[in-house]
Amino acid sequence: MKSIYSLSLADWVQFIEEHGYKAYRATQIWEWLYQHHVSDVEAMTNLSKEIRQLIAENFTFNPLEIQIVQQAEDQTTKFLFKLQDQNMIETVLMYHHYGISVCVTTQIGCNIGCKFCASGLIPKQRDLEAGEIVAQVMFIQRYLDEHQPGAKVSHLVVMGIGEPFDNYDNVMQFLRIVNHDKGLAIGARHITVSTSGLAPKIRQFAREGIQVNLAVSLHAPNNEVRSYLMRINNKYPMEELFDAIYEYIDLTNRRVTFEYIMIDGVNDQVHHAEELVALLKPIAKLAYVNLIPYNPVVENPFERSPQDHIDQFFDTLMKGGINCVVRKEHGTDIEAACGQLRSQYLKRQKEAGPANNRRQRVNRRQAIKAKRQVSHS
Ligand code: SAH
Ligand code: SF4
Repeated sequence: MKSIYSLSLADWVQFIEEHGYKAYRATQIWEWLYQHHVSDVEAMTNLSKEIRQLIAENFTFNPLEIQIVQQAEDQTTKFLFKLQDQNMIETVLMYHHYGISVCVTTQIGCNIGCKFCASGLIPKQRDLEAGEIVAQVMFIQRYLDEHQPGAKVSHLVVMGIGEPFDNYDNVMQFLRIVNHDKGLAIGARHITVSTSGLAPKIRQFAREGIQVNLAVSLHAPNNEVRSYLMRINNKYPMEELFDAIYEYIDLTNRRVTFEYIMIDGVNDQVHHAEELVALLKPIAKLAYVNLIPYNPVVENPFERSPQDHIDQFFDTLMKGGINCVVRKEHGTDIEAACGQLRSQYLKRQKEAGPANNRRQRVNRRQAIKAKRQVSHS
């Protein structure tokens, strides 16, 4: 059944009018969903029984079934969900000094196949629908309502499993739903979409007229290293990628964040940093580099850069006039790297079966508790 979070407000108006009801009913439904966070149609008390029945027959409030909840020492919390077709996805809740963010998944697996990434180990099974992406945020908002009344998801990062620009239309629909001022109203400037560099989609995104932030996973200062790490670079080499980024900047005058994971001996030498300075110099005013200490994935050979490499790299960029920051890590003690919880879960299940794994049993108990609390809120 379709997720109740699939429809924009305009889609709701159309749906409700098609069934012979007045348009303002759509706004009421929308308010129940995004202002009151209800998880049951019967809670929509100002709607007639007929409209409630119509909703119940066509939509589900729970397209996600919680499997595991894991909380790290820094409170970062990971949620593993089962979708209606039994596929697994993961979503992360993070606490920052500036607010609370959620990292959403956009695809089941990922076809981009970056060498360093746990998500890329599993080929894409399918794209998530907009309503399945919104549902991740709503589930976590309800989890907060239950555990920390008054706390609100204030920021979103589209950096979970999948390549958002390979699921472009659904991701745009998701962005418009969560950003809508009568809905969750998460400010566009508080939302960041990260892409591995699909150049034509960056050009399209530049024309959307939406103020959402763009992050590009660069990870290398030249084609040689980038193609080694990210085979997408063969399709859209750096010349083409940067043409698209220049166009994005021309059209939007918005800052672009460049993500750069620090992998020992591969892309973390001072000469790499110098090359990066030269590459970003022409757009230095609007470029911002995020250095990310690599989160090791058991299935691949890479190691995290030692701290002195990270420090030297950072200093070289700063001296070269490129704004940069070393990303604070979240939840490293709970396999928080992109796609890791899911891939480890699937692996453990294959090896031992869930009943043999104590940690999973504990997690399952937590999940059941969370499910009880959240779905009845
Ligand atoms: N597909 C998109 C968004 C999801 S990945 C993209 O690639 O941009 C989000 C970020 O996490 C990307 O910058 C990605 O390169 C990075 N990432 C993936 N695996 C990682 C790991 N093991 N350690 C640190 N960062 C990782
Ligand atoms: Fe896909 Fe992003 Fe992982 Fe690359 S880094 S495999 S694009 S999720």
